[in-house]
Amino acid sequence: MKLVLATGNKGKLREFRQMCEDEVVPFSELLGEFDIVEDGDTFAANALIKARTIYEKLGSEYIVISDDSGISLPVLGGEPSIYSARYAGEGATDKDNMQKLIKSVKEKKLTSTPAYYTAAIAIVSKYGEYVVHGWMHGDVVVEPRGDKGFGYDPVFVPSGHTQTLGELDDDVKREISHRAKALSLAKPIIQMLKNK
Ligand code: IMP
Repeated sequence: MKLVLATGNKGKLREFRQMCEDEVVPFSELLGEFDIVEDGDTFAANALIKARTIYEKLGSEYIVISDDSGISLPVLGGEPSIYSARYAGEGATDKDNMQKLIKSVKEKKLTSTPAYYTAAIAIVSKYGEYVVHGWMHGDVVVEPRGDKGFGYDPVFVPSGHTQTLGELDDDVKREISHRAKALSLAKPIIQMLKNK
């Protein structure tokens, strides 16, 4: 069974490809580009919406995996959370969203504040549906540093580090990220489904 990733996010695709031994095909290669309405109210609900939508279009010979993720800041009451991709509004770029986050933190008169990333990975196949989660804790700083990673990475300093994810090597993020942790739980499920 072929593994298809239900995302159009290039940063996520790159990280999945680095972390998966199996070949991962983005859905757009098979179905073309289109938007999926993510109207769930949790990361898990949105991950399932994405994976189900693609699975229903592709059919039972595929295992579809999706990632819904985002950053949460306790000082902002948990925002932007599931709205991370559109924090600065519909159609916002990663840079717009990061600038809005910096502004929100500065409005609290802070230069650094605790934050965490969440990733929900959903797996949909003819044998059923699964969702797993992973988290990465750290701090958001108001001066972006580095251009590695994607999204909010230039302002996120993981716990135990002094550099941002924009500065740290990709292999460090591969070890500690919310996505890596969720994927380590997803891998045995994918393996089990492939062996059925
Ligand atoms: P989604 O594609 O709807 O799941 O939106 C995820 C959004 O959360 C992305 O657009 C990023 O802004 C942010 N995000 C999720 N994971 C990461 C990460 O690993 N680094 C930086 N930003 C992330």
